Amino acid sequence: YNDRDGHIWMDGQMVDWRDANVHILTHAMHYASSVFEGERAYNGKIFKSREHSERLKRSAQMIDFEIPFTIDEIEAAKVEVLEKSGLQDAYVRAIAWRGAGEDMGVASARNPVRLAIAAWEWGAYYGDAKMKGAKLDISKWKRPSPETIPSHAKAAGLYMICTMSKHAAEAKGCSDAMMFDYRGYVAEATGANIFFVKDGEVHTPDPDCFLNGITRQTVIGMLKDRQVKVHERHIMPEELEGFEQCWLTGTAAEVTPVGKIGDYNFEVGSLTRDIAQGYETLVRV
Ligand code: PMP
Repeated sequence: YNDRDGHIWMDGQMVDWRDANVHILTHAMHYASSVFEGERAYNGKIFKSREHSERLKRSAQMIDFEIPFTIDEIEAAKVEVLEKSGLQDAYVRAIAWRGAGEDMGVASARNPVRLAIAAWEWGAYYGDAKMKGAKLDISKWKRPSPETIPSHAKAAGLYMICTMSKHAAEAKGCSDAMMFDYRGYVAEATGANIFFVKDGEVHTPDPDCFLNGITRQTVIGMLKDRQVKVHERHIMPEELEGFEQCWLTGTAAEVTPVGKIGDYNFEVGSLTRDIAQGYETLVRV
């Protein structure tokens, strides 16, 4: 991703894509003091753009730093990046981090906080799994307790176990991994929330120790509009066997049907297809 034409917004200025670099003694690289957003633009407009900018600011506050730009400034920067990219449909990545400067220890109060925004083309997150149903591994890593890390921040440090889980999954021919939480309840995939269907009703984990995704909230709204009952609750691993359908939600993943988790099989049923298609329509309204 580093060697291509284009521009990236950094700290208020557009820089050439290849020059959008940071120093090796950047605090974030050593101590994970970084937060980010994944957003998608459809027909030239970012879906739920403001919600993403607000979450970015909140994530930074949760890991104890303030982004030196207002929500309105971040919104304007994203519009500028998208226009400059010439793309109608794009993935937009905003990232804020503690930079390099006076401090090189764990404490970093004197280093600047930085913000960058890039946009590029990114098709279906799970490739052709999107219609057939993705195959998920079960991760050996558990989502951590909110007492051990700010679990609701979209912070880089929380993704270390996601990368390891996803690599292990891919080595087994799976598209992603489902993770349990620190108590053993079903939590989410490595970059997407999870939903199940049984007897016409929907069950999804209570997001009390992981990201309550913007797509997740959108899909719950769509289900309620369709008068489908949604249970947000703790889900035990033993329940996986009894669920009929399953899908993932996320900005990158959109709504992706799941065909298999470990040894459990799910059908790509009519509610899954309806929600996946409904989401595709909604983001372009
Ligand atoms: N969980 C994790 C770990 C994620 O990385 C994402 C993607 N941001 C999600 C859930 C879904 O969040 P959203 O729908 O806001 O993209």
